[in-house]
Amino acid sequence: MKITRIETINVAEFPAVTWVQVYTDAGHVGLGETWFGPRSVVGAIHEIFSPILIGKNPLDIERHWRDMFDMANAFGYAGAETRALSALDIALWDIAGQEAKQPIYNLLGGACRDRIRVYNTCAQYGANRDMEMAFFDPGGLARSLLDEGISIMKWAFTDHFADLSRGVFLSEQDLELMQEPIRQIRKAVGNQMAIANDGHGRWNLQNAIRIGRAMDQYGMFWQEELIQPTNVENHLALAREVEAPICVSERLVTKYQFRDYLRAGAAEVVMPDLIWTGGITETKKIAVMAEAEQAPVAPHDCTGPVNVFACAHICMNAPNVMVMETVRAFYGKSGYYGRFIEPNIVVRDGFLLAPEGPGLGTRLKKDVRERSDATVESSDSPGGDHWGGLHSPFEVVDSGGKRLVRLKSGSNPGRSRRGKKA
Ligand SMILES: [Mg+2]
Repeated sequence: MKITRIETINVAEFPAVTWVQVYTDAGHVGLGETWFGPRSVVGAIHEIFSPILIGKNPLDIERHWRDMFDMANAFGYAGAETRALSALDIALWDIAGQEAKQPIYNLLGGACRDRIRVYNTCAQYGANRDMEMAFFDPGGLARSLLDEGISIMKWAFTDHFADLSRGVFLSEQDLELMQEPIRQIRKAVGNQMAIANDGHGRWNLQNAIRIGRAMDQYGMFWQEELIQPTNVENHLALAREVEAPICVSERLVTKYQFRDYLRAGAAEVVMPDLIWTGGITETKKIAVMAEAEQAPVAPHDCTGPVNVFACAHICMNAPNVMVMETVRAFYGKSGYYGRFIEPNIVVRDGFLLAPEGPGLGTRLKKDVRERSDATVESSDSPGGDHWGGLHSPFEVVDSGGKRLVRLKSGSNPGRSRRGKKA
């Protein structure tokens, strides 16, 4: 089987999302997705990675991941390159599942559960008003989530206070005020609702510790990104000072960035974002590393529908996944997922159900490519064995009893460095 074509799809209505479809000569079409900065992502897919993949066997996922990462890592890998890599990796797993006629979690080692508990991130879309309710009717919001069987919620209760000073000054009055929604949730539903706070990396360490300690009286489910994950020592200090588990972080890209936090015990909840950190391949490895440190995993969402499907396979497979982030405003009746994919995710009684069918278990609807606001770009040219200097134009061979170095047939050493022509 060979990859014949790689296509990116963007729609103006949701400018952050990029879908990728990988076509094969066996008729399989693999679907992937990433989020944020589509022009740089689409550029990386077509300019850097498509030439590596076109003409290759899509089932060699580890080889392709390594080739793409090695190429990206020549320039500092985190960013658009790794988002592009993540989307392509998902599409390759989708193809592998279709070829094996198995859901992806069976290719990862099989299921250890058939559903995963979700928490609701209180973003809003369409008729949904969860985000506003988080501040203006927190008790009502908690009750409406409990009515759907959802008993964990997350919101960013402190962002607007951080905005006042870039997180360096926090008055006692504001520290008190930022806890009001949490107080109201406890008053309305007691401890039936678990509450997580996302600080979006907006505080300095000193204020992060004050916030974490103050909120500890409410038994928070976790404290996420009160500070940016730019050094392990500060997270260790935070973990020591705050009772609630410290959650780290959608911003860490690949196993290499998670490694130091895990080894130090600074990541008490591990939150990889599958479509940013390196796809299904890398998220599985991060989950295994977390398992070795006895740390629970909570995959990150609040983006697109394919991410939830891809994460669902990790959630079914990895024993240490604790919860999956989902946004009812996105997957629910007035959400947008259902307009783009078929089937949609199924959340029932507070649990995300295992995807059904081979591969990811969902497809991009056929009419998405035909939308008037859609931009579709396509690549079908292989870069060759020597693309971008990933592999040498020379080879070491045994010939007539001698070991010697020769130029590979068809190689052009002048086209050796990172896609530059000589
Ligand atoms: Mg977050």
